[in-house]
Amino acid sequence: MDTKSTERFLHIRATARVQSYSWYSSEVVIFQNHHVEILLQDKRSGSCLIETLGSYLDPCREGSTLSLDFDNFTPSYIFRRLAKELNDSNLSRYMRDYIFDESQRRDLPQGQPLLITVLVESTRRVYLEREETCAICLDDFESKTMSMFPGCYHQFHRECLCEWIVRRGHDSCPLCRHPVK
Ligand SMILES: [Zn+2]
Ligand SMILES: [Zn+2]
Repeated sequence: MDTKSTERFLHIRATARVQSYSWYSSEVVIFQNHHVEILLQDKRSGSCLIETLGSYLDPCREGSTLSLDFDNFTPSYIFRRLAKELNDSNLSRYMRDYIFDESQRRDLPQGQPLLITVLVESTRRVYLEREETCAICLDDFESKTMSMFPGCYHQFHRECLCEWIVRRGHDSCPLCRHPVK
Protein backbone atom coordinates (compact mmCIF):
# COMPACT_ATOMS: atom_id res chain seq x y z
CA MET A 1 0.00 0.00 0.00
CA ASP A 2 1.30 3.39 -1.02
CA THR A 3 0.23 6.49 0.92
CA LYS A 4 0.64 9.97 -0.43
CA SER A 5 1.04 13.03 1.76
CA THR A 6 -2.05 14.55 3.28
CA GLU A 7 -3.93 17.37 1.57
CA ARG A 8 -5.50 20.03 3.75
CA PHE A 9 -8.34 22.48 3.21
CA LEU A 10 -9.16 25.26 5.62
CA HIS A 11 -12.49 27.06 6.00
CA ILE A 12 -12.24 29.98 8.37
CA ARG A 13 -14.63 32.67 9.56
CA ALA A 14 -14.28 35.48 12.11
CA THR A 15 -17.16 37.28 13.81
CA ALA A 16 -17.21 39.91 16.54
CA ARG A 17 -18.37 38.63 19.91
CA VAL A 18 -21.52 40.27 21.26
CA GLN A 19 -20.68 43.54 23.06
CA SER A 20 -22.40 42.72 26.36
CA TYR A 21 -19.96 39.82 26.68
CA SER A 22 -16.95 41.95 25.85
CA TRP A 23 -15.10 40.97 29.03
CA TYR A 24 -14.40 37.70 27.28
CA SER A 25 -11.13 37.33 25.46
CA SER A 26 -11.15 36.25 21.83
CA GLU A 27 -11.72 32.61 21.05
CA VAL A 28 -10.55 30.31 18.27
CA VAL A 29 -12.53 27.11 17.77
CA ILE A 30 -10.87 24.47 15.61
CA PHE A 31 -12.83 21.56 14.12
CA GLN A 32 -10.69 18.87 12.51
CA ASN A 33 -12.07 16.19 10.19
CA HIS A 34 -9.97 13.45 8.64
CA HIS A 35 -10.90 11.76 5.40
CA VAL A 36 -9.27 9.04 3.42
CA GLU A 37 -9.57 8.82 -0.35
CA ILE A 38 -9.14 5.38 -1.85
CA LEU A 39 -7.71 5.12 -5.36
CA LEU A 40 -7.58 1.82 -7.15
CA GLN A 41 -4.85 1.12 -9.68
CA ASP A 42 -5.63 -1.48 -12.31
CA LYS A 43 -2.43 -2.83 -13.83
CA ARG A 44 -4.02 -5.80 -15.61
CA SER A 45 -4.82 -3.88 -18.76
CA GLY A 46 -1.19 -2.89 -19.34
CA SER A 47 -1.90 0.80 -18.93
CA CYS A 48 -2.19 2.04 -15.37
CA LEU A 49 -5.84 3.02 -14.89
CA ILE A 50 -6.72 4.80 -11.68
CA GLU A 51 -10.28 4.72 -10.41
CA THR A 52 -11.43 6.61 -7.32
CA LEU A 53 -13.51 4.62 -4.86
CA GLY A 54 -14.58 7.73 -2.99
CA SER A 55 -13.66 9.60 0.13
CA TYR A 56 -14.65 8.42 3.60
CA LEU A 57 -14.15 9.53 7.18
CA ASP A 58 -10.81 8.03 8.20
CA PRO A 59 -11.50 4.96 10.35
CA CYS A 60 -8.03 5.32 11.94
CA ARG A 61 -8.45 8.90 13.16
CA GLU A 62 -11.27 10.57 15.01
CA GLY A 63 -12.33 14.15 14.43
CA SER A 64 -11.70 16.69 17.16
CA THR A 65 -12.90 20.05 18.42
CA LEU A 66 -10.54 22.41 20.19
CA SER A 67 -11.52 25.70 21.81
CA LEU A 68 -8.72 28.19 22.63
CA ASP A 69 -8.71 31.63 24.25
CA PHE A 70 -6.56 34.19 22.45
CA ASP A 71 -5.13 37.43 23.93
CA ASN A 72 -4.29 38.93 20.56
CA PHE A 73 -3.75 38.07 16.91
CA THR A 74 -0.10 38.85 16.27
CA PRO A 75 1.44 36.19 13.97
CA SER A 76 4.06 34.98 16.49
CA TYR A 77 1.48 34.64 19.29
CA ILE A 78 -0.96 32.79 17.00
CA PHE A 79 1.77 30.36 15.97
CA ARG A 80 3.00 29.67 19.53
CA ARG A 81 -0.55 29.10 20.77
CA LEU A 82 -1.43 26.71 17.94
CA ALA A 83 1.85 24.78 17.91
CA LYS A 84 1.55 24.09 21.64
CA GLU A 85 -1.98 22.68 21.29
CA LEU A 86 -1.80 20.96 17.91
CA ASN A 87 1.72 19.51 18.15
CA ASP A 88 2.10 20.00 14.41
CA SER A 89 4.26 22.91 13.31
CA ASN A 90 3.39 22.64 9.61
CA LEU A 91 -0.33 22.77 10.25
CA SER A 92 0.15 25.56 12.82
CA ARG A 93 2.13 27.69 10.37
CA TYR A 94 -0.45 27.13 7.64
CA MET A 95 -3.33 27.96 9.99
CA ARG A 96 -1.58 31.03 11.45
CA ASP A 97 -1.58 32.86 8.11
CA TYR A 98 -5.30 32.30 7.59
CA ILE A 99 -6.22 33.29 11.15
CA PHE A 100 -4.09 36.44 10.94
CA ASP A 101 -5.67 37.50 7.63
CA GLU A 102 -9.16 36.83 8.89
CA SER A 103 -8.57 38.80 12.13
CA GLN A 104 -7.49 41.82 10.03
CA ARG A 105 -10.69 41.95 7.95
CA ARG A 106 -11.84 45.55 7.54
CA ASP A 107 -15.51 44.97 8.31
CA LEU A 108 -14.74 43.68 11.83
CA PRO A 109 -14.93 46.22 14.69
CA GLN A 110 -11.38 47.02 15.83
CA GLY A 111 -10.42 46.21 19.42
CA GLN A 112 -13.43 44.00 20.06
CA PRO A 113 -12.99 40.31 20.96
CA LEU A 114 -13.46 37.93 18.05
CA LEU A 115 -14.81 34.45 17.62
CA ILE A 116 -12.86 32.64 14.92
CA THR A 117 -13.96 29.23 13.71
CA VAL A 118 -11.58 27.07 11.70
CA LEU A 119 -12.69 23.92 9.91
CA VAL A 120 -9.75 21.78 8.83
CA GLU A 121 -10.55 19.04 6.34
CA SER A 122 -7.61 16.76 5.69
CA THR A 123 -7.54 14.01 3.10
CA ARG A 124 -5.07 11.15 3.06
CA ARG A 125 -4.75 9.38 -0.27
CA VAL A 126 -4.33 5.65 -0.30
CA TYR A 127 -3.37 3.91 -3.54
CA LEU A 128 -4.34 0.26 -3.85
CA GLU A 129 -3.61 -2.25 -6.53
CA ARG A 130 -6.68 -4.07 -7.71
CA GLU A 131 -6.53 -7.66 -6.48
CA GLU A 132 -7.78 -10.37 -8.81
CA THR A 133 -9.23 -12.83 -6.35
CA CYS A 134 -11.08 -12.75 -3.04
CA ALA A 135 -8.92 -14.30 -0.30
CA ILE A 136 -11.98 -15.68 1.51
CA CYS A 137 -13.57 -17.76 -1.29
CA LEU A 138 -10.60 -17.69 -3.72
CA ASP A 139 -12.96 -16.74 -6.58
CA ASP A 140 -12.28 -13.78 -8.87
CA PHE A 141 -13.91 -10.36 -8.62
CA GLU A 142 -15.45 -10.19 -12.09
CA SER A 143 -19.09 -10.98 -11.37
CA LYS A 144 -19.70 -9.97 -7.75
CA THR A 145 -19.36 -6.62 -5.96
CA MET A 146 -16.05 -5.89 -4.29
CA SER A 147 -15.87 -4.49 -0.77
CA MET A 148 -12.95 -3.32 1.35
CA PHE A 149 -12.08 -4.13 4.92
CA PRO A 150 -12.39 -0.87 6.94
CA GLY A 151 -8.94 0.43 7.95
CA CYS A 152 -6.57 -1.90 6.05
CA TYR A 153 -8.52 -1.79 2.74
CA HIS A 154 -7.91 -5.39 1.74
CA GLN A 155 -10.42 -6.37 -0.93
CA PHE A 156 -13.05 -9.12 -0.71
CA HIS A 157 -16.47 -9.86 -2.16
CA ARG A 158 -19.11 -7.91 -0.26
CA GLU A 159 -21.03 -11.12 0.58
CA CYS A 160 -17.86 -12.91 1.73
CA LEU A 161 -16.86 -10.05 4.03
CA CYS A 162 -20.36 -9.83 5.47
CA GLU A 163 -20.38 -13.59 6.12
CA TRP A 164 -16.89 -13.43 7.69
CA ILE A 165 -17.79 -10.69 10.20
CA VAL A 166 -21.52 -10.98 10.85
CA ARG A 167 -22.30 -14.69 10.53
CA ARG A 168 -18.98 -16.27 11.43
CA GLY A 169 -18.24 -13.69 14.14
CA HIS A 170 -14.61 -12.88 13.23
CA ASP A 171 -13.29 -9.56 14.50
CA SER A 172 -10.27 -9.00 12.24
CA CYS A 173 -9.21 -8.94 8.58
CA PRO A 174 -8.52 -12.49 7.26
CA LEU A 175 -5.32 -11.30 5.53
CA CYS A 176 -3.58 -8.97 7.98
CA ARG A 177 -5.63 -9.29 11.20
CA HIS A 178 -6.50 -5.58 11.27
CA PRO A 179 -9.26 -5.34 13.93
CA VAL A 180 -12.90 -4.46 13.18
CA LYS A 181 -13.66 -1.20 14.97
ZN1 LIG B 1 -15.27 -14.09 -2.00
ZN1 LIG C 1 -6.30 -6.51 5.91
